[in-house]
Amino acid sequence: MPLPLIDLHRHLEGSIRSSTFLDLARRDGHPFAQADRPRDELVASGPLGGLLPYLAKVDDQIGVIAGLGDWRRVAREAVEDAFNDGLDYVEFRFSPYFIEQRTSLDPLAVIDAVAAGVADGSAVTGLPVGLIATILRDLGPDAAVSQVTTFLARRDLFCGVDLAGNEAGYAADLFQPAFARVRDAGLHITVHAGEAAGPESVRAAVRDLGAERIGHGVRSAEDPMLMAELAAAGVTLEVALTSNTQTGAAPGYRQHQIHTLLAAGVPVTLNTDNPRVSDVTLSQEHALARYATGLSDQQLRTVAEQSVRAAFTDLQLPAVRT
Ligand SMILES: [Zn+2]
Repeated sequence: MPLPLIDLHRHLEGSIRSSTFLDLARRDGHPFAQADRPRDELVASGPLGGLLPYLAKVDDQIGVIAGLGDWRRVAREAVEDAFNDGLDYVEFRFSPYFIEQRTSLDPLAVIDAVAAGVADGSAVTGLPVGLIATILRDLGPDAAVSQVTTFLARRDLFCGVDLAGNEAGYAADLFQPAFARVRDAGLHITVHAGEAAGPESVRAAVRDLGAERIGHGVRSAEDPMLMAELAAAGVTLEVALTSNTQTGAAPGYRQHQIHTLLAAGVPVTLNTDNPRVSDVTLSQEHALARYATGLSDQQLRTVAEQSVRAAFTDLQLPAVRT
């Protein structure tokens, strides 16, 4: 039996097909259509040496996806791509306020367009999809509260809320008021931490914000006490081997902190983060985990079991057979 394929950490903004960027840029006469090497602006071709240059690959051309119908299209295509890779379940996250910054589209209308596109994709493929609303941390803590207010106007479309952006510039504890509202609404919580900042950032995400899952969190491996706390509390790390290597959060596939984390009993999952930018599919990430990182078959089963357990859904997901 193949292991279930579940992606719990996949940004819609980083999942848009390069071909769709070009198609829409040509339609609208956007300067991106004239780029000499358009793929170089959309895809990381190796380690970039930091989180911010990586995020530039996710972010810089998002203005090309200019209309609400375009967002509906890219959401549908993202679901189709996940289906074509053989996924059993996927959670897409996106930041309506980041999209507003780049397109001037109304955040609530963006949420509705993305939800409609996901529904289109799920109707065609049968793939179950969870949606996570991402708070853009770069706008600061006060704006985070109003971002949450918008998300809660569409409470039923979301299974969870995420915090993303410039981790080193905006500490987790600043966002306590926003996440108090998320918890009151009964939504699940995942927070990007321990990627561009150290173990204390992970600790603050769990303690101050109530994170049940941590986006990446690989730098938890620097702190044995923290790893024991994560293991005891069942806080799950959403690891992305290729993305972590490209951002410099991990030193490489073979030396990835996932070895230390698994040995310490920390719940770990395997995810893509941004399939277009990282130029990787989830099935490829699983193969890389086996052959480049060197995880054993038993470790891969443990990771797959954890992905089923940590999903923000009540759906019956495929069981891991031994
Ligand atoms: Zn991420």
